[in-house]
Amino acid sequence: MITIALSKGRIFKETLPLLAAADIVSAEDPESSRKLILDTNHEDIKLLIIRATDVPTYVQFGAADLGVAGKDVLMEHGGEGLYELVDLNIAKCRLMTAGLVGQAAPVNGRLRIATKFVNVAKQYFESRGEQVEVIKLYGSMELGPIVGLADLIVDVVDTGNTLKANGLEPRDHIADISSRLVVNRASMKMKHQQISNIIDNIRAAVANA
Ligand code: AMP
Repeated sequence: MITIALSKGRIFKETLPLLAAADIVSAEDPESSRKLILDTNHEDIKLLIIRATDVPTYVQFGAADLGVAGKDVLMEHGGEGLYELVDLNIAKCRLMTAGLVGQAAPVNGRLRIATKFVNVAKQYFESRGEQVEVIKLYGSMELGPIVGLADLIVDVVDTGNTLKANGLEPRDHIADISSRLVVNRASMKMKHQQISNIIDNIRAAVANA
Protein backbone atom coordinates (compact mmCIF):
# COMPACT_ATOMS: atom_id res chain seq x y z
CA MET A 1 0.00 0.00 0.00
CA ILE A 2 1.17 3.51 -0.89
CA THR A 3 -0.43 6.53 0.77
CA ILE A 4 -0.11 10.09 -0.51
CA ALA A 5 -0.94 13.02 1.80
CA LEU A 6 -2.52 16.05 0.18
CA SER A 7 -4.40 19.11 1.36
CA LYS A 8 -7.65 20.33 -0.17
CA GLY A 9 -7.94 23.42 -2.32
CA ARG A 10 -5.17 24.86 -4.43
CA ILE A 11 -2.58 22.13 -3.80
CA PHE A 12 -5.03 19.30 -4.55
CA LYS A 13 -6.28 20.95 -7.75
CA GLU A 14 -2.81 21.69 -9.04
CA THR A 15 -1.42 18.27 -8.05
CA LEU A 16 -4.21 16.31 -9.78
CA PRO A 17 -2.80 16.64 -13.32
CA LEU A 18 0.67 15.63 -12.07
CA LEU A 19 -0.75 12.55 -10.35
CA ALA A 20 -2.75 11.76 -13.50
CA ALA A 21 0.52 11.71 -15.43
CA ALA A 22 1.67 9.03 -13.00
CA ASP A 23 -1.62 7.21 -13.71
CA ILE A 24 -3.01 8.02 -10.24
CA VAL A 25 -6.59 9.25 -10.37
CA SER A 26 -8.71 10.01 -7.32
CA ALA A 27 -12.04 8.19 -7.16
CA GLU A 28 -13.66 11.22 -5.51
CA ASP A 29 -13.42 14.98 -5.34
CA PRO A 30 -12.24 15.91 -1.83
CA GLU A 31 -14.12 19.23 -2.03
CA SER A 32 -17.45 17.40 -2.12
CA SER A 33 -16.51 14.31 -0.10
CA ARG A 34 -16.21 14.18 3.67
CA LYS A 35 -13.91 11.20 3.49
CA LEU A 36 -10.36 11.62 4.72
CA ILE A 37 -9.06 8.59 2.81
CA LEU A 38 -9.84 8.57 -0.89
CA ASP A 39 -9.54 5.56 -3.15
CA THR A 40 -7.75 5.84 -6.46
CA ASN A 41 -7.78 3.82 -9.67
CA HIS A 42 -5.21 1.55 -7.97
CA GLU A 43 -6.29 -0.68 -5.12
CA ASP A 44 -2.94 -0.22 -3.40
CA ILE A 45 -2.73 3.60 -3.64
CA LYS A 46 -4.81 5.85 -1.35
CA LEU A 47 -4.92 9.61 -0.87
CA LEU A 48 -5.03 11.08 2.64
CA ILE A 49 -6.78 14.46 2.79
CA ILE A 50 -5.32 16.47 5.65
CA ARG A 51 -4.45 20.03 6.64
CA ALA A 52 -1.55 21.50 4.67
CA THR A 53 0.49 22.09 7.83
CA ASP A 54 0.06 18.43 8.86
CA VAL A 55 1.46 16.94 5.62
CA PRO A 56 5.15 16.95 6.71
CA THR A 57 4.21 15.40 10.06
CA TYR A 58 2.30 12.50 8.45
CA VAL A 59 5.20 11.86 6.07
CA GLN A 60 7.86 12.25 8.79
CA PHE A 61 6.26 9.50 10.89
CA GLY A 62 5.49 7.27 7.92
CA ALA A 63 1.72 7.67 8.37
CA ALA A 64 1.88 8.67 4.70
CA ASP A 65 4.57 7.47 2.29
CA LEU A 66 4.44 10.53 0.07
CA GLY A 67 3.04 14.03 0.44
CA VAL A 68 2.70 17.36 -1.29
CA ALA A 69 3.51 20.39 0.86
CA GLY A 70 4.41 24.03 0.33
CA LYS A 71 8.05 24.99 0.88
CA ASP A 72 6.78 27.42 3.54
CA VAL A 73 5.20 24.56 5.49
CA LEU A 74 8.34 22.41 5.04
CA MET A 75 10.62 25.22 6.23
CA GLU A 76 8.48 25.67 9.32
CA HIS A 77 8.40 21.90 9.99
CA GLY A 78 12.16 21.54 9.53
CA GLY A 79 12.09 18.53 7.20
CA GLU A 80 13.00 15.87 9.76
CA GLY A 81 12.44 12.28 8.59
CA LEU A 82 11.62 13.12 5.02
CA TYR A 83 13.23 13.71 1.67
CA GLU A 84 12.19 16.68 -0.47
CA LEU A 85 12.36 15.14 -3.93
CA VAL A 86 10.62 17.19 -6.57
CA ASP A 87 9.82 20.88 -6.91
CA LEU A 88 6.34 20.65 -8.43
CA ASN A 89 6.42 24.27 -9.56
CA ILE A 90 2.85 24.81 -8.38
CA ALA A 91 1.18 27.08 -5.79
CA LYS A 92 4.01 29.56 -6.18
CA CYS A 93 4.28 32.58 -3.92
CA ARG A 94 6.83 34.36 -1.73
CA LEU A 95 7.44 34.28 1.98
CA MET A 96 7.85 37.90 3.05
CA THR A 97 7.84 40.26 5.94
CA ALA A 98 5.24 43.03 5.75
CA GLY A 99 4.37 46.11 7.74
CA LEU A 100 2.00 49.06 7.73
CA VAL A 101 2.48 51.31 4.70
CA GLY A 102 5.02 54.01 5.46
CA GLN A 103 5.54 52.96 9.06
CA ALA A 104 9.19 52.71 10.04
CA ALA A 105 10.30 50.10 12.56
CA PRO A 106 10.35 51.42 16.15
CA VAL A 107 13.84 52.47 17.20
CA ASN A 108 13.57 51.30 20.78
CA GLY A 109 12.71 47.85 22.02
CA ARG A 110 12.43 44.51 20.35
CA LEU A 111 10.45 44.17 17.15
CA ARG A 112 7.29 42.13 17.52
CA ILE A 113 6.51 39.74 14.68
CA ALA A 114 3.09 38.13 14.26
CA THR A 115 3.09 34.95 12.18
CA LYS A 116 2.09 31.34 11.88
CA PHE A 117 5.67 30.66 10.70
CA VAL A 118 7.24 30.97 14.14
CA ASN A 119 10.39 28.91 13.46
CA VAL A 120 11.02 30.52 10.08
CA ALA A 121 10.59 34.01 11.55
CA LYS A 122 12.94 33.30 14.48
CA GLN A 123 15.62 31.89 12.18
CA TYR A 124 15.28 34.71 9.67
CA PHE A 125 15.67 37.54 12.19
CA GLU A 126 18.36 35.66 14.09
CA SER A 127 20.37 35.31 10.87
CA ARG A 128 20.20 39.09 10.54
CA GLY A 129 21.31 39.56 14.13
CA GLU A 130 17.97 41.09 15.11
CA GLN A 131 16.38 40.25 18.43
CA VAL A 132 12.65 39.90 17.97
CA GLU A 133 9.62 38.68 19.84
CA VAL A 134 7.59 36.27 17.74
CA ILE A 135 3.86 36.02 18.37
CA LYS A 136 2.15 32.87 17.06
CA LEU A 137 -1.09 33.42 15.14
CA TYR A 138 -3.15 30.88 13.22
CA GLY A 139 -4.52 33.20 10.53
CA SER A 140 -5.46 36.77 9.53
CA MET A 141 -1.91 37.89 10.30
CA GLU A 142 -2.53 41.18 8.45
CA LEU A 143 -4.58 42.37 11.42
CA GLY A 144 -1.56 42.23 13.75
CA PRO A 145 0.12 45.52 12.77
CA ILE A 146 -3.24 47.31 12.39
CA VAL A 147 -4.31 46.72 15.96
CA GLY A 148 -0.83 47.16 17.44
CA LEU A 149 -0.23 43.49 18.24
CA ALA A 150 2.93 43.44 16.13
CA ASP A 151 5.29 45.68 14.15
CA LEU A 152 5.63 43.24 11.28
CA ILE A 153 4.15 40.02 10.00
CA VAL A 154 5.75 37.09 8.19
CA ASP A 155 3.35 35.57 5.66
CA VAL A 156 3.07 34.16 2.16
CA VAL A 157 2.29 36.74 -0.50
CA ASP A 158 1.03 36.04 -4.00
CA THR A 159 -0.45 39.09 -5.74
CA GLY A 160 -0.01 41.29 -2.67
CA ASN A 161 -3.71 42.23 -2.83
CA THR A 162 -4.45 40.99 0.68
CA LEU A 163 -1.65 43.12 2.13
CA LYS A 164 -2.75 46.15 0.13
CA ALA A 165 -6.42 45.78 1.13
CA ASN A 166 -5.30 45.99 4.75
CA GLY A 167 -2.94 48.93 4.45
CA LEU A 168 0.21 46.81 4.55
CA GLU A 169 3.20 46.65 2.22
CA PRO A 170 5.68 43.85 1.52
CA ARG A 171 9.15 44.50 2.96
CA ASP A 172 11.81 41.76 2.97
CA HIS A 173 11.80 38.68 0.77
CA ILE A 174 12.55 35.59 2.86
CA ALA A 175 12.09 32.76 0.33
CA ASP A 176 10.45 31.77 -2.94
CA ILE A 177 7.76 29.19 -2.29
CA SER A 178 6.30 26.36 -4.35
CA SER A 179 4.89 22.95 -3.53
CA ARG A 180 7.25 19.99 -3.13
CA LEU A 181 6.81 16.26 -3.33
CA VAL A 182 8.16 14.73 -0.12
CA VAL A 183 8.71 11.10 0.84
CA ASN A 184 9.19 9.28 4.10
CA ARG A 185 12.81 8.13 4.41
CA ALA A 186 11.98 4.56 5.41
CA SER A 187 9.28 4.23 2.70
CA MET A 188 11.83 5.30 0.13
CA LYS A 189 13.92 2.25 1.08
CA MET A 190 11.16 -0.28 1.77
CA LYS A 191 8.90 0.55 -1.19
CA HIS A 192 11.62 1.72 -3.52
CA GLN A 193 10.32 0.28 -6.78
CA GLN A 194 6.76 1.57 -6.46
CA ILE A 195 7.75 4.97 -5.13
CA SER A 196 10.52 5.54 -7.71
CA ASN A 197 8.03 4.79 -10.42
CA ILE A 198 5.59 7.41 -9.12
CA ILE A 199 8.37 9.96 -8.62
CA ASP A 200 9.79 9.47 -12.13
CA ASN A 201 6.36 9.95 -13.70
CA ILE A 202 5.64 13.06 -11.66
CA ARG A 203 9.09 14.47 -12.48
CA ALA A 204 8.39 13.95 -16.18
CA ALA A 205 4.98 15.61 -15.85
CA VAL A 206 6.55 18.64 -14.14
CA ALA A 207 9.20 18.88 -16.86
CA ASN A 208 6.52 18.82 -19.55
CA ALA A 209 4.14 21.25 -17.81
P1 AMP B 1 -2.45 37.55 -2.22
O1 AMP B 1 -2.61 37.13 -3.67
O2 AMP B 1 -1.06 38.07 -1.94
O3 AMP B 1 -3.50 38.53 -1.82
O4 AMP B 1 -2.64 36.21 -1.38
C1 AMP B 1 -3.78 36.04 -0.59
C2 AMP B 1 -3.56 35.10 0.55
O5 AMP B 1 -3.59 33.80 0.01
C3 AMP B 1 -2.24 35.25 1.27
O6 AMP B 1 -2.34 36.03 2.42
C4 AMP B 1 -1.88 33.85 1.62
O7 AMP B 1 -2.34 33.55 2.93
C5 AMP B 1 -2.64 33.00 0.63
N1 AMP B 1 -1.78 32.43 -0.41
C6 AMP B 1 -1.51 32.94 -1.61
N2 AMP B 1 -0.73 32.13 -2.33
C7 AMP B 1 -0.50 31.06 -1.55
C8 AMP B 1 0.23 29.85 -1.73
N3 AMP B 1 0.89 29.57 -2.85
N4 AMP B 1 0.25 28.96 -0.72
C9 AMP B 1 -0.40 29.23 0.42
N5 AMP B 1 -1.12 30.35 0.65
C10 AMP B 1 -1.18 31.25 -0.33
